[in-house]
Amino acid sequence: MEKHTGKQIALTGDRPTGRLHLGHYVGSLKNRVKMQDEFKQFVMVADVQALTDNAENPDKVRNNVIEVALDNLAVGVDPAKTTFFIQSMIPEIAELTVFFLNLVTVARLERNPTIKNEMRQKGFEGNVPAGFLAYPVSQAADILTFKATHVPVGDDQLPVLEQANEISHKFNSLYGETFSKIESIISHAPRLMGIDGGAKMSKSLGNAIFLSDDTETIKKKVMQMYTDPKHIHVNDPGSVEGNVVFDYLTIFDPKQDEVNEFKAEYRKGGLGDTVIKNRLADVLENIISPIREKREYLATKPDYVMNVLLEGTKEARKVAAETMAEVKKVMKINY
Ligand code: ATP
Ligand code: MG
Repeated sequence: MEKHTGKQIALTGDRPTGRLHLGHYVGSLKNRVKMQDEFKQFVMVADVQALTDNAENPDKVRNNVIEVALDNLAVGVDPAKTTFFIQSMIPEIAELTVFFLNLVTVARLERNPTIKNEMRQKGFEGNVPAGFLAYPVSQAADILTFKATHVPVGDDQLPVLEQANEISHKFNSLYGETFSKIESIISHAPRLMGIDGGAKMSKSLGNAIFLSDDTETIKKKVMQMYTDPKHIHVNDPGSVEGNVVFDYLTIFDPKQDEVNEFKAEYRKGGLGDTVIKNRLADVLENIISPIREKREYLATKPDYVMNVLLEGTKEARKVAAETMAEVKKVMKINY
């Protein structure tokens, strides 16, 4: 714990439901790499949360624990600076979740826009697992067990963090000042759209470019991208707004002056979709190839990766035990 002393605390994590993709990269992973020098940072593999909508798929969750760890390590989240841990191995989080459940109503959980939206996507309306409905409560416990104040996330998580702050405020007002306010750290691309033009690239929606995709796959996915349906002939004027290829070029292309020239030409008419798609495929390949190479190397060392998770978990548990002792004291259940 020495390495972090006196710093502000950041925490974030990923659900082990699949490999990580470009949305994770721009929405959260890049910030993790930046923040690990300034903050005491925890990165959690959220296996308990993944099980809230995958209870019948334990193998999927188990197999993806190592995959999300690999993705984090491959982009440069450094175990010498960041403490990785596995959520289910910190029983204090489950304990705090139980206490927090008393501080929130079912009606308030049902009103959470992120939950509402995800319930619709997963077909949970009318028969939602209680654990899924309550995942914002367990997420509040994830963060507050470590007294984290800064959480780098995509904007789909903002309503969940708002609810976490309500819970912590309620806790403080009932039992005394224990937790500080949580702030979200939002990137310049807080919600990357899917390659299908859908509102969010997501591992569960089949619309992602993964950080482990090979050159051919990247190219194929870019070629499938939605542009402007009215841009049929090269000389037709095209629309840049809502055009997935331009959206991605704006986010990922290091040469924005050239992207701006392309946009002007496309709007006027005379620039073909293949030209901008080839450019995007190159831009993405340049970003992904070093990540993919490092990932492939690390994938040959599964023991090392597991050890990073287990060593980090040991350290995280010490912090969790300290918070839990304090929580039980203020709640008067420290027998
Ligand atoms: P699932 O479909 O299983 O929920 P997911 O793709 O939404 O998977 P999570 O593990 O839930 O991924 O999210 C991890 C982090 O990445 C969160 O902070 C989330 O806000 C962020 N994130 C996920 N998708 C995007 C995206 N398309 N754009 C920006 N940030 C994203
Ligand atoms: Mg998600």
